[in-house]
Amino acid sequence: MRSSPHTGCSLIMNTELPQNARVLLRVDFNVPLQGGTVTDVTRLRSVIPTLQTLRQRGNACILMAHLGRPRGRNADLSLRLLVPILESLLGEPIVFVPDPMNDKSFLPEAAYSLLENLRFYPGEEANEVSFAQQLSRWGNFYINEAFSVAHRAHASIVGVPAFLPHAAGPLFQQELKALQSITECPVPPVLALVGGSKISTKLGVLHHLLKKVDTLAVGGGLANTFLAAQGYVIGTSLQEPALHEKARLLIQEAQQEGRTLLLPCDVVVRTARGATQVCPVEAIPSDAAIFDVGPMTVRRLENEIARARTVLWNGPLGRFEEPPFHKATKAILHTLATATRERSLVSVVGGGDSVAALHAASLDFSAFSYVSTSGGAFLEFLEGKELPGIRALQDS
Ligand code: ADP
Ligand code: MG
Repeated sequence: MRSSPHTGCSLIMNTELPQNARVLLRVDFNVPLQGGTVTDVTRLRSVIPTLQTLRQRGNACILMAHLGRPRGRNADLSLRLLVPILESLLGEPIVFVPDPMNDKSFLPEAAYSLLENLRFYPGEEANEVSFAQQLSRWGNFYINEAFSVAHRAHASIVGVPAFLPHAAGPLFQQELKALQSITECPVPPVLALVGGSKISTKLGVLHHLLKKVDTLAVGGGLANTFLAAQGYVIGTSLQEPALHEKARLLIQEAQQEGRTLLLPCDVVVRTARGATQVCPVEAIPSDAAIFDVGPMTVRRLENEIARARTVLWNGPLGRFEEPPFHKATKAILHTLATATRERSLVSVVGGGDSVAALHAASLDFSAFSYVSTSGGAFLEFLEGKELPGIRALQDS
């Protein structure tokens, strides 16, 4: 991941790494598991440089994280699973602490320790003060290196930093800067492309972005509700009729704020007979369903990208998992990647399915200025919400 070139608008947070301390580090080790095997080690790998930097500064690292959604202790979700993988990535031994709440677990100085899955303890999600205090005894300095959990007011995210001097880790800072580079002091013109399945999951994002960007382009299933709200026949397409009024209000809001809200002008549909067809939005057959935006819309979006200096993209423009409905998403991702490379456009891509679409389009993270894998925290930030995990690092 490349860092954003815009750094002039950071929140006031301590970002200085300590020296010769016992650093209690909140990390994101919520890896995908299949039958007890870790299927993707990206999250583990990404934190290794931070750990090595901390070690070079003479610190001991005590790692804490959650895995899955256990209800109480569950051997299948023990972080012990990760020890051999982390040891091979680091090339150093890790001491595993099966019960971090037990005083007898306190160990003489180990370079690396890993505490058991925090969610085995109800105090973590309930943000119990006594739990946070007990956890804080593991270190004398706290670092949050897990932006992806910053939207959760859990003990290891907001409780522990109340007890210890604290800082944002390098990955946390990098993500925050990238997100601020779009929402707080972006280089104009700013374009946001928002797709995905349902408008209900992105209403907050659309509202907030309308205030921040010059052009908001909507695609994917989201756009269907806008089209239907404007009176277009959209056949059997996915839509949310209860939100027609909200969609109309957003269109009005855009006009009032002097922003451009771009909707598709053509779409790719599947007819009742299973045929794929491109049609203008004025002529969608009543038995067809929209699964992608059409080639005219792609050209319009490419023109918008050509004019923009900052682009945010969240949410596939169509049902990219099912060819041929991947075409618009793939084309736009490649246009964005080329513009990022050739004229240093600031491009930020994020969202669970968006990251999957990026892989499906054979692009890697380095093609964009920043790619966020933070899912919920990324979307809540784009809604303009104050994330408790950021707030906790601002308080001194
Ligand atoms: P992200 O996780 O990147 O925020 P979402 O979860 O909002 O994205 O949406 C992703 C899903 O939206 C994908 O599974 C994709 O198939 C679906 N989708 C996009 N366009 C359509 C459409 N026109 N009809 C149905 N599903 C769509
Ligand atoms: Mg998703």
